[in-house]
Order: sequence, then C-alpha cells, then structure tokens
Amino acid sequence: TKNNVDIGSIFGLDVGGTLSKLVYFEKSSPHSNSHTSPFLDSRRRQNSDIPTFPTSPQTSPKNPPSEPRSKDTSNLPPPSPTHNHPLKRINSLNSLHRHSHRAALDEFYKFANEHNTFGQSGIKEPHLSFQSRSLGGSFHFIHFETRHMPSAIDLISENGLAQNIKNMGCTGGGAHKYSEMWRSRVNINMIKQAEMASLVAGIEFVLKSLVGECFTFKPQRSPVTSSSSSPRKITEEEWSRKVQRDSIRDRTTYPYIVVSIGTGVSFIRVDGPGPSQFERVTGSTIGGGTYWGLCRLLTDCETFSDVLQLAEMGDSGKVDMLVKDIYGTNPEALRKLKLPGNIVASSFGKLATKNNPSDGIDQKDLARAILMMTTNNIAHIAYLTARLYKTSRIYFIGNFLRHNNVSCQRLSYSINYWSNGTVEGLFLEHEGYLGALGAFLLGQE
Ligand code: ADP
Repeated sequence: TKNNVDIGSIFGLDVGGTLSKLVYFEKSSPHSNSHTSPFLDSRRRQNSDIPTFPTSPQTSPKNPPSEPRSKDTSNLPPPSPTHNHPLKRINSLNSLHRHSHRAALDEFYKFANEHNTFGQSGIKEPHLSFQSRSLGGSFHFIHFETRHMPSAIDLISENGLAQNIKNMGCTGGGAHKYSEMWRSRVNINMIKQAEMASLVAGIEFVLKSLVGECFTFKPQRSPVTSSSSSPRKITEEEWSRKVQRDSIRDRTTYPYIVVSIGTGVSFIRVDGPGPSQFERVTGSTIGGGTYWGLCRLLTDCETFSDVLQLAEMGDSGKVDMLVKDIYGTNPEALRKLKLPGNIVASSFGKLATKNNPSDGIDQKDLARAILMMTTNNIAHIAYLTARLYKTSRIYFIGNFLRHNNVSCQRLSYSINYWSNGTVEGLFLEHEGYLGALGAFLLGQE
C-alpha cells in the first residue's frame, strides 16, 4: 500500500561502532486488548503508572496481533452529501490520514512481529519487550551489526517499509556517518539526538518505570559463617548470585555513575533527572571492541557469543602474572604488601617470562585473560570515578555485557572489594538498548 504517511516517530535507532540497536514502539490500537496481559498485572509495581518488565507475549505467525488490522483508506465509507462543509472536510481528511496511518503502522508491525531474525545479523530480543501503560503501547528491541547497514537499508526498502518512514530518531556516531546513505537510498531523514543525552534518557526511563530491570551480583553465601563470629573470606567464584535491585531509594538518589561499555567505554556522572543534568567525565579506549578485536586475532571464534563461551572455560592464571608469582607465597611478605597473592599483578605478564609464550596455553585461556584484562581495567576506572564523585551507585551498561556473566560478576566483585562494600556495581536488563530507547523518547518531546 502507498499510504504516504510518516510512521517514523515509532523508532529509535542507535548506530554504534559495532552494533546498531533499533527500538520500535507498538502503539496499542483502539481495539486492542493488549493491556490484559497476565505479565502486566502480575508484575505491576504498586502506584506505578508505567509497569512491567518482562512483558507482553510476543506476536508471531502462530500468535497474531490481537487487534484487527485497520482498514485501508480504500475501504472507507463514501463521503456523505455534506462533505463540502469545511469542518466536515477537515474531519474527514484527518480521519483519512488516521486510517492510512494506522494501516501503515500495522503493515510495519506485521512485518516486524512475524520475524525474530532479519537479514545477515538482525536479531529481535522478545524477552526484552515490555508494555508501557502511560505511553499506550509496547516496546520491542532489535540489533544488527553496523557493518551490515547497507543491507539493513535494502531490507527496509525491499519490504516496502521505506515509503511510510520519512523521519527517524537516531543517535550514536553512525547517526552522522550513515545519514547520507539513508537519505539517498530510501529517502529517510535521520533526526539526530545527542548520544549521551539519549543514553541518560533511556536509563532514567527504565529505572523509574520498569520492575525487574536492575540487578547486581552477590556472594552465594553470607560472609559470616554460623559456626564462627569472624567474617569468612568470600572468594570471587562465589560472587554469582543474581539479585534484583528495584528499591525506590536506589533509583532516586543522585549523583550516580554510568559506565557504558560499547566498542569504547564512556563514564558519565548523572546529577539529576533533568534532560541535561549529566556530564561525560572520562572514557577508556579499552572496551568491548578491544576485547572482540583481540579475540578475533587470537582465537578461531567467528561470533561474539562463541568467544564468550570459550572464555568461560579458560584459565587466565596461565597467562596473567599474579602477585604470588612475583612475591612467592610467604604470608609475611604478602601481609606487608596488603594484597592477596592470587590477585593479578600484570595481565599477560606470565607470557613475558616464558621461553615459549604459547607453551601449555589454549585459546580458551587467552580468551579468558583478554576478558579479565578488559573488565578489570573498566572496574578500576569505575571505582575511582565513583570515589571522585562520592557516589555509591555505578550502573554498567552496553552490549559488551550482553550474556556476559563473567564480566558482570567480576565487576560486582571488584567494586565491592575495592570500596570495602560501600559502592555497588549495578546492571540493567536493557543494557544495550538504552541509547535507542532514549532517542525514541527524546523524539516524542
Ligand atoms: P557500540 O554502540 O559502540 O557498537 P555496544 O553497546 O552496542 O556499542 O557494544 C558493542 C560491543 O558489544 C562489541 O564491541 C562487543 O564487545 C559486544 N558484542 C555483543 N554482542 C555482539 C555481537 N553480536 N557482535 C559483535 N559484538 C558484540
């Protein structure tokens, strides 16, 4: 259908150095009964206008959208004899527009809801979808590799979706880099939103609105054993219990630090809920791109999830030089140093002292050591940043953390360790989509 209306306001696109993230908002139709989702009612936070995460059941070919598709304009009733009256005429034009708008939206929703994968690398994450009562619809999340942008644009064009998208809210460095490609190939205008402002808008929205969004990791067991009054030392291996962190106090105290671990890393201090109450205070070049880039060089893994699985089985101690490798295990010497013997003194340092550095080392050990090196460096800067700005909350976000429990647990553990339990490392379920979500939200204002 050539509806010739702009449905671009339902999107937020975040084009990053490695991944592009797309949020689309599925407006409830006037006939929709989507607010009766059992998830919505069972998980609703009391006194909250906007509930719910997780969310509405996904629509799929087997489970089509509950609302009837709106009619195409060609099915509208013939104009009444009084249609020449100016007011009537405007109303009838508006209604025509509304109908074609709804038809265009439904056309897109049908396409997007019926697939969970798109093109070469596009993946929808149905478990992240959620409903928003106050905004009257639900959010859905898709990502794809930025290097496949030309085919993503072709996919939109080939499926006839481009004719109804004229402007699209967009953020991330690629909002600038790919803007001309979108315009020339499909005549879609990128409406640019500032990257950090989008990120913070997305974070503030999920923190204030969604139940079950925020979590951390804690030790499996309490540090004090029942048989002894002295605190038992918690080892890092035990720091693996996922705990929800949804209390109101946690979500309304400022400042807090955001550590966005994408291709590179940004450290942002958020001072309040307002749109410009934040500052990007520093950054690090050692981020998710470093990890993935080095792993592509040093392992045979073809995908990011393969390399994470490999790293889970590896032993970084074969590669990293530990404090005890330098000092030995003499307890007196370690006590004077005030550092535990099994802490890393130099990432990859052990390889520098071997005749043949690759002797006895597998790809899995390298993958693990690169993961720990990247994560430790981020943890340390995050801790120092939190100290500098006197805050007890650090939110770690970005797709580096996607399905990456090893890093999340290490971040929780090290922040707790270095801060003596006074600072907490926190994580968000929508970790990779906050910029895209924010770009959508800022576009509505
Ligand atoms: P950016 O906006 O800079 O692309 P993201 O927050 O999307 O940042 O994170 C990108 C990082 O996420 C990559 O550098 C990599 O470490 C990790 N990652 C997670 N999933 C994938 C994937 N499927 N392909 C490539 N990298 C991935």
